Amino acid sequence: MAERKPLIAGNWKLFKTGAEAVETSKKLASLVGQINTVDMMIAPPYTALSMVAPVLQNTNIGLSAQNMHWAKSGAYTGEISSEMLVSAGCQYVILGHSERRQYFHETDDDINRKIHAAIDAGLKPVFCVGETEDERNLNKTFSVLDKQIEIGLKGANFEKAMRIVIAYEPVWAIGTGKTATDDQAQEVHEYLRKRIGELFNSEVASTMRILYGGSVKPNNIKGLMAMPDIDGALVGGASLDADQFSAIIKYQ
Ligand code: PEP
Repeated sequence: MAERKPLIAGNWKLFKTGAEAVETSKKLASLVGQINTVDMMIAPPYTALSMVAPVLQNTNIGLSAQNMHWAKSGAYTGEISSEMLVSAGCQYVILGHSERRQYFHETDDDINRKIHAAIDAGLKPVFCVGETEDERNLNKTFSVLDKQIEIGLKGANFEKAMRIVIAYEPVWAIGTGKTATDDQAQEVHEYLRKRIGELFNSEVASTMRILYGGSVKPNNIKGLMAMPDIDGALVGGASLDADQFSAIIKYQ
């Protein structure tokens, strides 16, 4: 099996002004900036990206945006392009987060366009998938995930697939304090890896990092990371505080 370096990612959502983001990222850089046993990244809001970039410069913490548009430029008021993110210092972009799907009506096809545009610009997409509570209760988890990954990854070749990180985020676990159990998460991660193998090949399946997201905290990260198909975490609430996020990064 391929060695997959864990990735611990922080999604700051609609929190922190530029000055607040700089303050938190400076603290984070001093606490964990030189760790190299895991990859790390934070995703501040757009307005803070170019302010946080120099703080992360000589650290191992990557910079991510939380979304982008698929067009390179154009009459799309209020949108941000992949090239703008690269020029602000980003290496990653979170795409298809359930809050984007739920509140801003992003479709699987939109997300697919964004994934292609992000990779073409040199960014690494963190592609979020996950079922709602109703879908889980109706035993639709796997069929929902099938549709999300089949459409989301449509047209990606081997080289593109090798740049993608998947984040499995059950919608019912995001911001609710209800984490999936280690076994529930592992079951889905194993399924996703199998499907990635069928959509691409076994090399992509064994190399692709699949993160878990949904109320990850310092007290539950260790159990999740002990699961064979969980390769890291996408952390919302607990990533806003440098001490808590550092404790998650130092789970080992
Ligand atoms: C997220 O924002 O992707 C997330 C998982 O949030 P939280 O950790 O707060 O549940």
